[in-house]
Amino acid sequence: MRLIERGSGSPRVAVVGGIHGDEPAGDAIVERLIAELSVDAGTIQLLIANEPALAAGTRYTETDLNRAFPGDPDSDDYEAVLATRVMQVLEGADAVLAIHTSRSVPPPFAIFSERTAPVRRTVTALPVEYVVDASGLRSTTMDSMLPHTVSIEAGKQGSDEAVEFGTECAYAFLRAHGILRDSEPTFAPKQIVRAIEEVPKSGGDPHLYYHNFEAIPEGAVFAEDDEYTHRVESEGVVPILASEHGYDDIFGLYGEFDGTLDPPETETPPSDDVNGETSAEQEGTTHPEANGNPQPGSAEGGVGTSPEADGS
Ligand SMILES: [Zn+2]
Repeated sequence: MRLIERGSGSPRVAVVGGIHGDEPAGDAIVERLIAELSVDAGTIQLLIANEPALAAGTRYTETDLNRAFPGDPDSDDYEAVLATRVMQVLEGADAVLAIHTSRSVPPPFAIFSERTAPVRRTVTALPVEYVVDASGLRSTTMDSMLPHTVSIEAGKQGSDEAVEFGTECAYAFLRAHGILRDSEPTFAPKQIVRAIEEVPKSGGDPHLYYHNFEAIPEGAVFAEDDEYTHRVESEGVVPILASEHGYDDIFGLYGEFDGTLDPPETETPPSDDVNGETSAEQEGTTHPEANGNPQPGSAEGGVGTSPEADGS
């Protein structure tokens, strides 16, 4: 695990890459942020999670980290112990963005498990059209165990496009939470797709007939292999993470459209704990605080700037 912290005070947000070692985009994006980011307010934690798996170019070394949360400090499995350390480091974070890629097809999308206010702020700021509500699925992923976490599927595993798109997402996330104040965040409603269940796969000659978020007609076959024929018997079912060869045991997930997630009522970032800077909107004019409420104070002024620390 590699951890770099920048800035001080609140809010504290995190960008996490390298949860899966065969998805190099997250690692590349976090490295890019480490190289080029200057924080305008609050704290950012930049975390590269599974360094041994990245070095080996494999999804994990002993067990899938994103199926190992909240972790087990006494386990013999590397990733089970690592999950505990990731939880400790990120505990109390105000918002977390976890970057993934897949062998599924575009478009990129976001995933949440719990619809908290910071999750809503993150999701509606990301340049994606769809967000998957994974609350009905397994509870061993990072977004299900670490509050205020949003995962993104940034694109195709190993592609430059995934690095570019994931970087764009990271910047949008940092603007939405007030860490970067170089330009105003922009928010838009997102289509929620509720994940219903996994679609099992056995082995031998897999075939897929529908793309992600494309409605599967009632009675049509979504996928088949030597053992399974998955016929969809109800209306409104769409595939999520659909892939013939992406996973050993599933073709992906079935989902269902479930309304929209709307932008936060207050688009200004929740905290204004600026490190000695005047934000652009305050320059030259009286700040239009119609309700007379003061901005949240910088009560955390005593928290020191942390130098770059290798937390591993
Ligand atoms: Zn992943």
